Amino acid sequence: MPIDATQPYDDSNIFARILRGELPSKTVYDDEFALAFHDINPQAPLHILVIPKGAYVSWDDFSARASDAEIAGFVRAVGQVARDAGLVAPGYRLLANTGLDSHQEVPHLHVHIFAGQKLGPMLA
Ligand code: ADP
Repeated sequence: MPIDATQPYDDSNIFARILRGELPSKTVYDDEFALAFHDINPQAPLHILVIPKGAYVSWDDFSARASDAEIAGFVRAVGQVARDAGLVAPGYRLLANTGLDSHQEVPHLHVHIFAGQKLGPMLA
């Protein structure tokens, strides 16, 4: 079910549970500001999710409320995950679904990294 990006943060969401270590993930990156792991249902040969450590519902919530240090740390982490995976030369796509029309389903901000094949002009 798509979520409303204006809702308050609910710490029972699946990514909050991954952050607390209650659910497993195939982690590829972990630092003070971000955790990255493989998507459980990959939509490309390589599909990684990067999430902030803080409690933010969406890109909107994060960009409005997070500190400059959290924002810088998270953005740098997304870039580092892509570099670590060797994606700079072949290229990759970032996506952050936000709210109902985008079909965001998990109410904790996550940036998708898609790579490993030539992607079309847009993902529908
Ligand atoms: P959508 O599900 O419509 O793509 P989102 O942008 O909210 O919307 O993406 C949530 C992503 O989280 C999906 O790609 C889904 O496969 C992934 N996902 C859900 N549960 C897990 C999990 N336990 N571990 C890793 N990825 C997960």
